[in-house]
Amino acid sequence: MNRGMRLDAEAIGSGLTSQRVRDRLVERLRASGIEDERVLRAIGTVPRHLFVDEALAMRAYEDTALPIGHGQTISQPWVVAKMTEALLQTAPRKVLEIGTGSGYQAAVLAALGLEVHTVERIGELLRSARKRFRQIGLEVRSKHDDGYVGWAENAPFDAIMVTAGGAAVVDALLDQLSPGGALIAPVGSATSQELLRLVKHEDGRVERQMLAPVVFVPLLPGTID
Ligand code: SAH
Repeated sequence: MNRGMRLDAEAIGSGLTSQRVRDRLVERLRASGIEDERVLRAIGTVPRHLFVDEALAMRAYEDTALPIGHGQTISQPWVVAKMTEALLQTAPRKVLEIGTGSGYQAAVLAALGLEVHTVERIGELLRSARKRFRQIGLEVRSKHDDGYVGWAENAPFDAIMVTAGGAAVVDALLDQLSPGGALIAPVGSATSQELLRLVKHEDGRVERQMLAPVVFVPLLPGTID
C-alpha cells in the first residue's frame, strides 16, 4: 500500500471541503463588489464542489463557470452572487428559478431560507440536482418541464430568476410574479446578454433595470429526458 499517496489524496480532499477554500472565494466576491452579507454567507456555506463532476472539484472555488454535461454550465459564482443580491432586494419569501442545471443556484437560495421552486428541461440534470439537494439536506421543490411556461400551479412567486439567456423577457413568467415582485433574467443574443431586473409594481407598471453584461447558455424550448 502506498501510504504517501493516500495521505496526499486525504490532503486534497480536506482542502476542497474545508471552510478556508470557500472563505477565499467569499473574499474574492466581496472584492469584486458583492456587498450583501447574507449572500456572502450563503456562498460560504454551500459546498460548490458537490455540484460539479469529481474531476472538476479542484476548480469548484474558482470564480468561473464550469461544464456540467449536456452542453450546460454551472454559473460563475460572481453571477450567482449578483443575481441573488438583486433577487433579495424586494425581500421575497417564495421564489422560482428557471434552469436548475447543477442545482447550485437553487441551493444558495434555499440556504438563504427561501422557499425555492426550480424548473429544468433536461431530465438527467434535474435527477442529479435532486440527489445533491437530498445529500446536503436542503429543501427545494423541482419540476421537469419547459420553463417557458413557468410553474402556474404554485404561482404567484415573490421573485423569479431565469438562469439561461433568452431573446426576450418571458411574459408567462411576468404573469406568475406577485405585485411588487422582481424578475431577474439575462436577455440578449445567444452569445451575450444583459442581466435585467424587472420590478412589477402594484399598479401593473414594469420597471426595468440593467445590472451587468453576462454570458449564459441559451434558454431553449421543450424538454428532453
Ligand atoms: N442555475 C444553474 C445554471 C444552469 S445553466 C446552476 O446553478 O447550475 C442553465 C440551465 O437552464 C441548463 O441546465 C438548461 O438545461 C436550462 N434550461 C434552458 N432552457 C430551459 C427551459 N426552457 N426550461 C427549463 N430549463 C431550461
